[in-house]
Amino acid sequence: MAKFIFITGGVVSSLGKGIASASIGALMESHGYRISMMKLDPYINVDPGTMNPFQHGEVYVTADGAETDLDLGHYERFTNAKITRANNTTSGQIYFSVIQKEREGKYLGKTIQVVPHITDEIKSRIMALAKKVDIVISEIGGTVGDIESLPFLEAIRQLRFEHNGQDTVFIHLTLVPFIKAAGELKTKPTQHSVASLREIGIQPQILLCRTEKPLSLEMKEKVALFCNVRKQAVIEAIDTSFIYEIPLIYHRQNLDRIILENINLPCHPHPDLEKWYSIVNILHTAEEKVKIGVVGKYIKLQDSYKSIYEALVHGAIANRCRVEFSRIDSEDIEKEGADKFLGDVDGVILPGGFGIRGVEGMIGAIRYCREKRIPFLGICLGLQCSVIEFARNVCGLHRANSTEFDAETEDPVICLLDEQKNITKLGGTMRLGCYPCMIEPKSIAYRAYRKKKIFERHRHRWEFNLKYLDLMEKYGMKFSGFSPDRKLVEIIELKNHPFFIATQFHPEFQSKPFDCHPLFSSFILASLRRKRQE
Ligand code: GLN
Repeated sequence: MAKFIFITGGVVSSLGKGIASASIGALMESHGYRISMMKLDPYINVDPGTMNPFQHGEVYVTADGAETDLDLGHYERFTNAKITRANNTTSGQIYFSVIQKEREGKYLGKTIQVVPHITDEIKSRIMALAKKVDIVISEIGGTVGDIESLPFLEAIRQLRFEHNGQDTVFIHLTLVPFIKAAGELKTKPTQHSVASLREIGIQPQILLCRTEKPLSLEMKEKVALFCNVRKQAVIEAIDTSFIYEIPLIYHRQNLDRIILENINLPCHPHPDLEKWYSIVNILHTAEEKVKIGVVGKYIKLQDSYKSIYEALVHGAIANRCRVEFSRIDSEDIEKEGADKFLGDVDGVILPGGFGIRGVEGMIGAIRYCREKRIPFLGICLGLQCSVIEFARNVCGLHRANSTEFDAETEDPVICLLDEQKNITKLGGTMRLGCYPCMIEPKSIAYRAYRKKKIFERHRHRWEFNLKYLDLMEKYGMKFSGFSPDRKLVEIIELKNHPFFIATQFHPEFQSKPFDCHPLFSSFILASLRRKRQE
Protein backbone atom coordinates (compact mmCIF):
# COMPACT_ATOMS: atom_id res chain seq x y z
CA MET A 1 0.00 0.00 0.00
CA ALA A 2 1.39 3.37 -1.03
CA LYS A 3 1.77 6.27 1.37
CA PHE A 4 0.48 9.79 0.72
CA ILE A 5 2.04 13.19 1.20
CA PHE A 6 -0.31 16.16 0.75
CA ILE A 7 1.01 19.67 0.30
CA THR A 8 -1.19 22.72 0.80
CA GLY A 9 -0.35 26.42 0.75
CA GLY A 10 -1.44 29.27 2.94
CA VAL A 11 -1.38 33.06 3.40
CA VAL A 12 -0.48 34.08 -0.17
CA SER A 13 0.09 32.44 -3.52
CA SER A 14 3.49 32.24 -5.26
CA LEU A 15 5.31 30.81 -2.23
CA GLY A 16 6.87 28.12 -4.41
CA LYS A 17 4.66 25.18 -3.55
CA GLY A 18 5.60 23.42 -6.78
CA ILE A 19 9.30 23.63 -6.02
CA ALA A 20 8.72 22.64 -2.38
CA SER A 21 6.75 19.58 -3.55
CA ALA A 22 9.40 18.70 -6.14
CA SER A 23 12.13 19.04 -3.50
CA ILE A 24 10.22 16.72 -1.18
CA GLY A 25 9.96 14.29 -4.10
CA ALA A 26 13.72 14.46 -4.60
CA LEU A 27 14.31 13.79 -0.90
CA MET A 28 11.99 10.76 -0.91
CA GLU A 29 13.86 9.37 -3.92
CA SER A 30 17.17 9.90 -2.15
CA HIS A 31 15.94 7.40 0.44
CA GLY A 32 15.31 4.87 -2.32
CA TYR A 33 11.52 5.27 -2.63
CA ARG A 34 9.60 5.23 -5.90
CA ILE A 35 7.32 8.23 -6.07
CA SER A 36 4.51 9.67 -8.11
CA MET A 37 3.65 13.36 -8.13
CA MET A 38 0.36 15.07 -8.74
CA LYS A 39 -0.86 18.64 -9.11
CA LEU A 40 -4.52 19.29 -8.30
CA ASP A 41 -5.53 22.62 -9.78
CA PRO A 42 -8.68 24.32 -8.45
CA TYR A 43 -9.46 26.32 -11.62
CA ILE A 44 -12.40 25.35 -13.81
CA ASN A 45 -10.53 25.16 -17.12
CA VAL A 46 -10.71 21.65 -18.54
CA ASP A 47 -7.73 22.25 -20.78
CA PRO A 48 -4.89 24.27 -19.22
CA GLY A 49 -3.27 24.45 -22.68
CA THR A 50 -5.63 27.20 -23.73
CA MET A 51 -4.67 29.50 -20.86
CA ASN A 52 -2.76 32.70 -21.52
CA PRO A 53 0.93 32.39 -20.53
CA PHE A 54 0.77 35.97 -19.22
CA GLN A 55 -1.60 34.87 -16.49
CA HIS A 56 -0.46 31.39 -15.68
CA GLY A 57 3.05 31.06 -16.93
CA GLU A 58 4.32 28.41 -19.24
CA VAL A 59 2.20 25.55 -20.52
CA TYR A 60 4.30 22.50 -19.76
CA VAL A 61 4.03 19.60 -22.22
CA THR A 62 4.41 16.02 -21.02
CA ALA A 63 5.80 13.17 -23.12
CA ASP A 64 2.27 11.86 -23.74
CA GLY A 65 1.23 15.25 -25.09
CA ALA A 66 -0.73 16.75 -22.19
CA GLU A 67 -0.62 20.54 -21.83
CA THR A 68 -0.25 21.01 -18.11
CA ASP A 69 0.63 23.33 -15.27
CA LEU A 70 4.24 24.46 -15.09
CA ASP A 71 4.71 22.81 -11.70
CA LEU A 72 4.89 19.49 -13.53
CA GLY A 73 8.08 20.83 -15.07
CA HIS A 74 9.55 21.20 -11.58
CA TYR A 75 8.52 17.63 -10.77
CA GLU A 76 10.31 16.31 -13.86
CA ARG A 77 13.41 18.42 -13.29
CA PHE A 78 13.78 17.46 -9.63
CA THR A 79 12.69 13.81 -9.66
CA ASN A 80 12.52 10.65 -11.77
CA ALA A 81 8.77 10.35 -11.28
CA LYS A 82 6.89 9.37 -14.43
CA ILE A 83 4.84 12.40 -15.45
CA THR A 84 1.88 12.06 -17.81
CA ARG A 85 -1.54 13.64 -18.26
CA ALA A 86 -2.68 11.65 -15.22
CA ASN A 87 -0.46 13.78 -13.01
CA ASN A 88 -2.35 17.05 -13.41
CA THR A 89 -6.05 17.40 -12.70
CA THR A 90 -8.16 20.55 -12.71
CA SER A 91 -11.55 21.12 -11.05
CA GLY A 92 -12.90 21.51 -14.57
CA GLN A 93 -11.76 17.99 -15.51
CA ILE A 94 -13.20 16.56 -12.31
CA TYR A 95 -16.61 18.21 -12.80
CA PHE A 96 -16.56 17.36 -16.50
CA SER A 97 -16.13 13.67 -15.85
CA VAL A 98 -18.72 13.61 -13.05
CA ILE A 99 -21.23 15.39 -15.32
CA GLN A 100 -20.41 13.01 -18.16
CA LYS A 101 -21.07 10.02 -15.90
CA GLU A 102 -24.32 11.59 -14.81
CA ARG A 103 -25.34 12.04 -18.48
CA GLU A 104 -24.51 8.40 -19.12
CA GLY A 105 -26.81 7.43 -16.28
CA LYS A 106 -24.00 5.93 -14.23
CA TYR A 107 -25.31 7.35 -10.95
CA LEU A 108 -28.71 5.68 -11.38
CA GLY A 109 -30.77 8.80 -10.74
CA LYS A 110 -29.08 9.78 -7.48
CA THR A 111 -28.63 13.43 -6.51
CA ILE A 112 -25.09 14.39 -7.60
CA GLN A 113 -23.26 16.40 -4.94
CA VAL A 114 -19.82 17.84 -4.21
CA VAL A 115 -19.60 15.35 -1.34
CA PRO A 116 -19.40 12.47 -2.18
CA HIS A 117 -19.38 12.57 -6.00
CA ILE A 118 -16.81 15.28 -6.71
CA THR A 119 -14.65 14.26 -3.75
CA ASP A 120 -14.83 10.59 -4.81
CA GLU A 121 -13.66 11.52 -8.30
CA ILE A 122 -10.72 13.48 -6.81
CA LYS A 123 -9.79 10.58 -4.53
CA SER A 124 -9.98 8.06 -7.35
CA ARG A 125 -7.53 10.12 -9.41
CA ILE A 126 -5.07 10.26 -6.52
CA MET A 127 -5.49 6.55 -5.81
CA ALA A 128 -4.95 5.69 -9.50
CA LEU A 129 -1.36 6.89 -9.11
CA ALA A 130 -0.71 4.74 -6.06
CA LYS A 131 -0.45 1.40 -7.83
CA LYS A 132 3.20 1.16 -8.81
CA VAL A 133 4.89 3.48 -6.34
CA ASP A 134 5.76 3.72 -2.65
CA ILE A 135 4.71 7.32 -2.11
CA VAL A 136 2.23 9.62 -3.89
CA ILE A 137 2.92 13.32 -3.40
CA SER A 138 -0.09 15.55 -4.16
CA GLU A 139 0.13 19.30 -4.33
CA ILE A 140 -3.13 21.21 -3.95
CA GLY A 141 -3.06 24.39 -6.02
CA GLY A 142 -4.36 27.69 -4.66
CA THR A 143 -4.33 29.00 -1.12
CA VAL A 144 -6.22 27.65 1.87
CA GLY A 145 -9.36 29.73 2.27
CA ASP A 146 -10.11 29.88 -1.48
CA ILE A 147 -13.61 28.73 -2.31
CA GLU A 148 -12.33 26.74 -5.28
CA SER A 149 -9.93 24.50 -3.42
CA LEU A 150 -12.44 23.31 -0.79
CA PRO A 151 -13.47 20.07 -2.58
CA PHE A 152 -9.81 19.09 -2.91
CA LEU A 153 -9.12 19.74 0.76
CA GLU A 154 -12.22 17.80 1.72
CA ALA A 155 -11.06 14.90 -0.49
CA ILE A 156 -7.64 14.71 1.17
CA ARG A 157 -9.23 15.01 4.62
CA GLN A 158 -11.33 11.96 3.75
CA LEU A 159 -8.28 10.09 2.47
CA ARG A 160 -6.55 10.47 5.82
CA PHE A 161 -9.75 9.53 7.60
CA GLU A 162 -10.18 6.39 5.50
CA HIS A 163 -6.55 5.31 5.66
CA ASN A 164 -4.50 4.52 8.63
CA GLY A 165 -3.17 7.82 10.05
CA GLN A 166 0.31 6.43 9.50
CA ASP A 167 -0.14 6.34 5.73
CA THR A 168 -0.69 10.05 5.21
CA VAL A 169 1.00 13.29 6.13
CA PHE A 170 -0.14 16.87 5.62
CA ILE A 171 2.47 19.50 4.93
CA HIS A 172 1.48 23.15 4.89
CA LEU A 173 3.60 25.78 3.17
CA THR A 174 3.10 29.17 4.74
CA LEU A 175 4.63 32.64 4.98
CA VAL A 176 6.28 34.23 7.99
CA PRO A 177 6.62 37.83 6.80
CA PHE A 178 9.23 40.28 8.02
CA ILE A 179 7.57 43.56 8.97
CA LYS A 180 10.08 46.33 8.44
CA ALA A 181 8.39 48.91 10.68
CA ALA A 182 8.41 46.49 13.63
CA GLY A 183 11.77 44.98 12.63
CA GLU A 184 10.44 41.48 13.24
CA LEU A 185 9.04 38.34 11.73
CA LYS A 186 5.34 37.76 12.29
CA THR A 187 3.70 34.39 12.84
CA LYS A 188 0.06 35.50 12.97
CA PRO A 189 -0.72 34.82 9.27
CA THR A 190 0.59 31.28 9.73
CA GLN A 191 -1.53 30.77 12.85
CA HIS A 192 -4.61 31.93 10.92
CA SER A 193 -3.86 29.81 7.92
CA VAL A 194 -3.45 26.66 10.03
CA ALA A 195 -6.60 27.59 11.96
CA SER A 196 -8.58 27.64 8.69
CA LEU A 197 -7.17 24.26 7.76
CA ARG A 198 -8.18 22.84 11.13
CA GLU A 199 -11.65 24.28 10.73
CA ILE A 200 -12.15 21.94 7.79
CA GLY A 201 -10.68 19.00 9.61
CA ILE A 202 -7.07 19.07 8.49
CA GLN A 203 -4.30 19.27 11.06
CA PRO A 204 -0.93 19.63 9.30
CA GLN A 205 1.90 17.61 10.83
CA ILE A 206 4.64 19.69 9.20
CA LEU A 207 4.93 23.40 8.43
CA LEU A 208 7.28 24.83 5.82
CA CYS A 209 7.69 28.49 6.73
CA ARG A 210 8.80 30.73 3.88
CA THR A 211 10.84 33.53 5.36
CA GLU A 212 13.45 36.06 4.33
CA LYS A 213 15.21 35.93 7.72
CA PRO A 214 16.19 32.91 9.82
CA LEU A 215 13.50 31.72 12.26
CA SER A 216 14.73 31.72 15.85
CA LEU A 217 14.11 28.70 18.07
CA GLU A 218 11.72 30.86 20.06
CA MET A 219 9.77 31.70 16.93
CA LYS A 220 9.57 28.03 15.97
CA GLU A 221 8.33 27.15 19.45
CA LYS A 222 5.65 29.78 19.20
CA VAL A 223 4.47 28.54 15.79
CA ALA A 224 4.55 24.96 17.08
CA LEU A 225 2.42 25.78 20.10
CA PHE A 226 -0.18 27.84 18.26
CA CYS A 227 -0.43 25.50 15.30
CA ASN A 228 -0.34 22.24 17.22
CA VAL A 229 2.75 20.98 15.38
CA ARG A 230 5.96 19.53 16.88
CA LYS A 231 8.67 22.18 17.00
CA GLN A 232 11.10 20.00 15.01
CA ALA A 233 8.46 19.90 12.30
CA VAL A 234 8.44 23.69 11.93
CA ILE A 235 10.86 23.96 9.01
CA GLU A 236 12.51 27.18 7.97
CA ALA A 237 12.10 27.59 4.21
CA ILE A 238 14.41 30.52 3.80
CA ASP A 239 14.73 32.50 0.55
CA THR A 240 17.56 31.25 -1.63
CA SER A 241 18.98 32.38 -4.93
CA PHE A 242 19.21 28.81 -6.23
CA ILE A 243 16.10 26.64 -6.27
CA TYR A 244 18.29 23.53 -6.63
CA GLU A 245 19.56 24.13 -3.10
CA ILE A 246 16.12 23.63 -1.56
CA PRO A 247 16.24 19.82 -1.19
CA LEU A 248 19.49 20.26 0.79
CA ILE A 249 18.11 23.14 2.89
CA TYR A 250 15.21 20.86 3.87
CA HIS A 251 17.46 17.87 4.45
CA ARG A 252 19.66 19.83 6.85
CA GLN A 253 16.56 20.35 9.00
CA ASN A 254 15.67 16.64 8.83
CA LEU A 255 12.51 17.21 6.84
CA ASP A 256 12.98 13.86 5.04
CA ARG A 257 13.28 11.98 8.32
CA ILE A 258 10.26 13.73 9.83
CA ILE A 259 8.11 12.95 6.76
CA LEU A 260 9.17 9.29 6.75
CA GLU A 261 8.44 8.98 10.48
CA ASN A 262 4.97 10.36 9.88
CA ILE A 263 4.18 7.85 7.17
CA ASN A 264 5.93 5.07 9.01
CA LEU A 265 8.59 4.26 6.42
CA PRO A 266 12.24 3.47 7.21
CA CYS A 267 14.73 6.30 6.81
CA HIS A 268 17.89 5.42 4.88
CA PRO A 269 20.97 6.15 7.04
CA HIS A 270 22.81 7.64 4.03
CA PRO A 271 20.33 9.15 1.58
CA ASP A 272 21.83 9.59 -1.86
CA LEU A 273 22.08 13.34 -2.31
CA GLU A 274 25.44 13.39 -4.07
CA LYS A 275 24.16 14.88 -7.33
CA TRP A 276 22.49 17.73 -5.43
CA TYR A 277 25.66 18.55 -3.49
CA SER A 278 27.62 18.58 -6.69
CA ILE A 279 25.37 20.98 -8.63
CA VAL A 280 24.94 23.28 -5.65
CA ASN A 281 28.70 23.41 -5.32
CA ILE A 282 28.98 24.49 -8.98
CA LEU A 283 26.23 27.10 -8.56
CA HIS A 284 28.09 28.63 -5.61
CA THR A 285 31.63 28.53 -6.97
CA ALA A 286 31.36 29.13 -10.72
CA GLU A 287 32.89 32.47 -11.65
CA GLU A 288 32.88 32.82 -15.42
CA LYS A 289 29.68 34.47 -16.63
CA VAL A 290 27.84 34.17 -19.91
CA LYS A 291 25.11 36.60 -20.96
CA ILE A 292 22.20 35.17 -22.90
CA GLY A 293 19.58 37.29 -24.65
CA VAL A 294 16.10 35.79 -24.41
CA VAL A 295 13.96 37.36 -27.13
CA GLY A 296 10.23 36.78 -26.89
CA LYS A 297 6.76 38.22 -26.66
CA TYR A 298 5.82 37.00 -23.19
CA ILE A 299 9.03 38.38 -21.70
CA LYS A 300 7.53 40.50 -18.91
CA LEU A 301 6.35 37.52 -16.94
CA GLN A 302 9.30 35.37 -16.01
CA ASP A 303 7.18 32.23 -15.61
CA SER A 304 6.10 32.17 -19.26
CA TYR A 305 9.45 30.70 -20.30
CA LYS A 306 10.14 28.80 -17.07
CA SER A 307 11.60 25.66 -18.64
CA ILE A 308 13.76 27.74 -21.02
CA TYR A 309 15.38 29.66 -18.15
CA GLU A 310 15.89 26.47 -16.15
CA ALA A 311 17.45 24.65 -19.13
CA LEU A 312 19.84 27.59 -19.61
CA VAL A 313 20.83 27.32 -15.94
CA HIS A 314 21.43 23.58 -16.52
CA GLY A 315 23.61 24.50 -19.50
CA ALA A 316 25.62 26.80 -17.26
CA ILE A 317 25.99 24.08 -14.60
CA ALA A 318 27.18 21.63 -17.29
CA ASN A 319 29.81 24.18 -18.37
CA ARG A 320 30.67 25.27 -14.82
CA CYS A 321 29.76 28.88 -15.39
CA ARG A 322 26.98 31.32 -14.43
CA VAL A 323 24.32 32.52 -16.78
CA GLU A 324 22.94 36.02 -16.79
CA PHE A 325 19.73 36.73 -18.73
CA SER A 326 18.94 39.75 -20.79
CA ARG A 327 15.18 39.63 -21.29
CA ILE A 328 14.20 41.37 -24.49
CA ASP A 329 10.69 42.06 -25.71
CA SER A 330 10.70 41.43 -29.46
CA GLU A 331 8.34 44.38 -29.96
CA ASP A 332 11.09 46.64 -28.60
CA ILE A 333 13.44 45.27 -31.26
CA GLU A 334 10.78 46.11 -33.84
CA LYS A 335 10.75 49.71 -32.64
CA GLU A 336 14.39 50.34 -31.86
CA GLY A 337 16.47 47.77 -33.78
CA ALA A 338 18.38 44.67 -32.68
CA ASP A 339 21.71 46.40 -32.17
CA LYS A 340 20.51 48.30 -29.12
CA PHE A 341 19.49 45.12 -27.29
CA LEU A 342 21.79 42.41 -28.62
CA GLY A 343 25.07 44.33 -28.81
CA ASP A 344 26.40 42.93 -25.54
CA VAL A 345 25.05 39.37 -25.36
CA ASP A 346 27.11 36.21 -25.90
CA GLY A 347 24.24 34.13 -27.28
CA VAL A 348 20.56 34.49 -28.16
CA ILE A 349 17.66 32.15 -27.59
CA LEU A 350 14.26 32.56 -29.21
CA PRO A 351 11.57 30.48 -27.52
CA GLY A 352 8.17 29.40 -28.83
CA GLY A 353 5.05 31.48 -29.18
CA PHE A 354 1.75 31.94 -30.96
CA GLY A 355 0.31 34.76 -33.06
CA ILE A 356 1.78 37.58 -35.11
CA ARG A 357 2.56 40.11 -32.40
CA GLY A 358 6.31 40.68 -32.09
CA VAL A 359 7.23 38.35 -34.95
CA GLU A 360 8.99 41.00 -37.07
CA GLY A 361 11.17 41.85 -34.06
CA MET A 362 12.08 38.19 -33.72
CA ILE A 363 13.04 38.08 -37.38
CA GLY A 364 15.17 41.20 -36.83
CA ALA A 365 16.92 39.52 -33.89
CA ILE A 366 17.62 36.42 -35.98
CA ARG A 367 19.08 38.44 -38.83
CA TYR A 368 21.36 40.18 -36.36
CA CYS A 369 22.58 36.83 -34.94
CA ARG A 370 23.12 35.38 -38.41
CA GLU A 371 25.07 38.37 -39.67
CA LYS A 372 27.07 39.02 -36.50
CA ARG A 373 27.73 35.29 -36.02
CA ILE A 374 26.21 35.27 -32.51
CA PRO A 375 25.40 31.76 -31.20
CA PHE A 376 21.67 31.21 -31.69
CA LEU A 377 19.18 28.63 -30.49
CA GLY A 378 15.64 28.87 -31.88
CA ILE A 379 12.78 26.88 -30.47
CA CYS A 380 9.56 26.11 -32.35
CA LEU A 381 8.45 29.61 -33.40
CA GLY A 382 12.21 30.27 -33.25
CA LEU A 383 12.73 27.77 -36.09
CA GLN A 384 9.83 29.13 -38.09
CA CYS A 385 11.10 32.72 -37.82
CA SER A 386 14.63 31.58 -38.75
CA VAL A 387 13.27 30.00 -41.92
CA ILE A 388 11.33 33.18 -42.78
CA GLU A 389 14.35 35.37 -42.15
CA PHE A 390 16.63 33.20 -44.30
CA ALA A 391 14.08 32.98 -47.13
CA ARG A 392 13.64 36.76 -47.18
CA ASN A 393 17.15 38.03 -46.63
CA VAL A 394 19.33 35.28 -48.08
CA CYS A 395 17.22 33.49 -50.72
CA GLY A 396 15.60 36.69 -52.00
CA LEU A 397 11.99 35.64 -51.33
CA HIS A 398 11.17 39.06 -49.92
CA ARG A 399 7.55 38.33 -49.06
CA ALA A 400 8.17 34.91 -47.47
CA ASN A 401 6.08 34.27 -44.39
CA SER A 402 4.22 31.67 -42.36
CA THR A 403 0.55 31.27 -43.20
CA GLU A 404 -0.05 31.74 -39.48
CA PHE A 405 0.88 35.42 -39.94
CA ASP A 406 -0.12 36.01 -43.56
CA ALA A 407 -2.59 33.54 -44.98
CA GLU A 408 -2.14 34.95 -48.51
CA THR A 409 1.67 35.09 -48.64
CA GLU A 410 3.29 34.39 -52.02
CA ASP A 411 5.95 32.27 -50.40
CA PRO A 412 4.48 30.21 -47.57
CA VAL A 413 7.77 28.79 -46.28
CA ILE A 414 5.93 27.75 -43.11
CA CYS A 415 2.46 26.34 -43.70
CA LEU A 416 -0.14 23.86 -42.54
CA LEU A 417 0.06 20.38 -44.04
CA ASP A 418 -2.74 19.48 -46.46
CA GLU A 419 -4.23 16.97 -44.06
CA GLN A 420 -4.25 19.61 -41.30
CA LYS A 421 -6.15 22.12 -43.42
CA ASN A 422 -9.17 19.87 -43.47
CA ILE A 423 -9.23 19.25 -39.76
CA THR A 424 -8.61 22.90 -38.83
CA LYS A 425 -12.30 23.58 -38.86
CA LEU A 426 -12.82 20.95 -36.22
CA GLY A 427 -9.96 22.17 -34.05
CA GLY A 428 -7.47 19.77 -32.48
CA THR A 429 -4.70 20.22 -35.04
CA MET A 430 -1.86 20.77 -32.65
CA ARG A 431 1.09 18.33 -32.79
CA LEU A 432 1.60 17.55 -29.10
CA GLY A 433 3.97 15.36 -27.14
CA CYS A 434 6.88 13.11 -27.96
CA TYR A 435 7.83 12.25 -31.55
CA PRO A 436 10.96 10.63 -33.02
CA CYS A 437 13.46 12.63 -35.05
CA MET A 438 16.35 11.32 -37.17
CA ILE A 439 19.55 13.33 -37.06
CA GLU A 440 21.86 13.89 -40.03
CA PRO A 441 25.54 13.14 -39.48
CA LYS A 442 28.15 15.93 -39.41
CA SER A 443 25.75 18.46 -37.99
CA ILE A 444 25.70 20.66 -34.88
CA ALA A 445 22.75 18.52 -33.78
CA TYR A 446 24.68 15.26 -34.16
CA ARG A 447 27.71 16.69 -32.37
CA ALA A 448 25.42 17.63 -29.47
CA TYR A 449 23.27 14.49 -29.22
CA ARG A 450 25.77 11.88 -30.52
CA LYS A 451 22.75 9.83 -31.57
CA LYS A 452 20.94 9.19 -34.85
CA LYS A 453 17.49 8.91 -33.37
CA ILE A 454 16.06 11.13 -30.66
CA PHE A 455 12.64 11.71 -29.12
CA GLU A 456 11.48 15.24 -28.38
CA ARG A 457 8.30 16.99 -27.28
CA HIS A 458 6.20 19.15 -29.58
CA ARG A 459 3.51 21.80 -29.25
CA HIS A 460 2.77 23.49 -32.55
CA ARG A 461 0.60 23.50 -35.66
CA TRP A 462 2.65 24.93 -38.49
CA GLU A 463 5.43 23.07 -40.34
CA PHE A 464 8.29 23.78 -42.72
CA ASN A 465 7.11 23.73 -46.35
CA LEU A 466 9.23 21.05 -48.08
CA LYS A 467 8.79 22.80 -51.45
CA TYR A 468 11.46 25.27 -50.33
CA LEU A 469 13.98 22.78 -49.04
CA ASP A 470 16.24 22.52 -52.10
CA LEU A 471 16.39 26.26 -52.62
CA MET A 472 17.24 27.01 -49.02
CA GLU A 473 19.80 24.25 -48.89
CA LYS A 474 21.48 25.74 -51.95
CA TYR A 475 21.82 29.06 -50.12
CA GLY A 476 23.40 27.52 -47.03
CA MET A 477 20.71 26.27 -44.70
CA LYS A 478 21.29 22.76 -43.41
CA PHE A 479 18.35 20.52 -42.61
CA SER A 480 19.76 18.30 -39.91
CA GLY A 481 16.70 16.65 -38.35
CA PHE A 482 13.62 15.05 -39.93
CA SER A 483 10.69 12.92 -38.88
CA PRO A 484 11.46 9.26 -39.78
CA ASP A 485 9.34 9.55 -42.97
CA ARG A 486 11.25 12.77 -43.86
CA LYS A 487 7.98 14.64 -44.30
CA LEU A 488 8.55 17.01 -41.37
CA VAL A 489 11.60 19.17 -40.80
CA GLU A 490 12.62 19.01 -37.15
CA ILE A 491 16.00 20.80 -37.03
CA ILE A 492 17.66 23.46 -39.17
CA GLU A 493 21.17 24.92 -38.97
CA LEU A 494 23.28 27.43 -40.87
CA LYS A 495 26.37 26.16 -42.62
CA ASN A 496 28.53 29.28 -42.43
CA HIS A 497 27.95 30.16 -38.82
CA PRO A 498 29.72 29.02 -35.62
CA PHE A 499 26.47 27.95 -33.88
CA PHE A 500 23.07 28.56 -35.36
CA ILE A 501 20.49 25.89 -34.75
CA ALA A 502 16.71 25.83 -34.41
CA THR A 503 14.31 23.04 -33.58
CA GLN A 504 10.62 22.54 -34.30
CA PHE A 505 10.35 20.72 -30.95
CA HIS A 506 10.89 21.92 -27.37
CA PRO A 507 14.15 20.53 -25.96
CA GLU A 508 13.73 22.60 -22.77
CA PHE A 509 11.10 20.18 -21.43
CA GLN A 510 13.63 17.36 -21.11
CA SER A 511 16.50 19.12 -19.41
CA LYS A 512 17.49 18.34 -15.84
CA PRO A 513 19.88 20.19 -13.53
CA PHE A 514 22.27 17.25 -13.34
CA ASP A 515 21.59 16.01 -16.85
CA CYS A 516 21.44 19.05 -19.09
CA HIS A 517 19.81 18.70 -22.47
CA PRO A 518 22.65 18.43 -25.05
CA LEU A 519 21.40 21.37 -27.15
CA PHE A 520 21.43 23.66 -24.12
CA SER A 521 24.87 22.59 -22.94
CA SER A 522 26.32 23.03 -26.43
CA PHE A 523 24.58 26.39 -26.88
CA ILE A 524 26.05 27.68 -23.62
CA LEU A 525 29.46 26.31 -24.61
CA ALA A 526 29.28 28.10 -27.98
CA SER A 527 28.28 31.33 -26.19
CA LEU A 528 31.17 30.97 -23.75
CA ARG A 529 33.58 30.44 -26.64
CA ARG A 530 32.38 33.60 -28.33
CA LYS A 531 32.80 35.53 -25.11
CA ARG A 532 36.35 34.21 -24.61
CA GLN A 533 37.32 35.31 -28.13
CA GLU A 534 36.15 38.87 -27.61
N1 GLN B 1 2.78 29.26 -33.54
C1 GLN B 1 3.64 28.23 -34.07
C2 GLN B 1 2.89 26.97 -34.44
O1 GLN B 1 1.83 26.74 -33.92
C3 GLN B 1 4.78 27.92 -33.10
C4 GLN B 1 4.30 27.29 -31.83
C5 GLN B 1 5.34 27.27 -30.73
O2 GLN B 1 6.33 27.99 -30.80
N2 GLN B 1 5.16 26.45 -29.71
O3 GLN B 1 3.34 26.19 -35.22
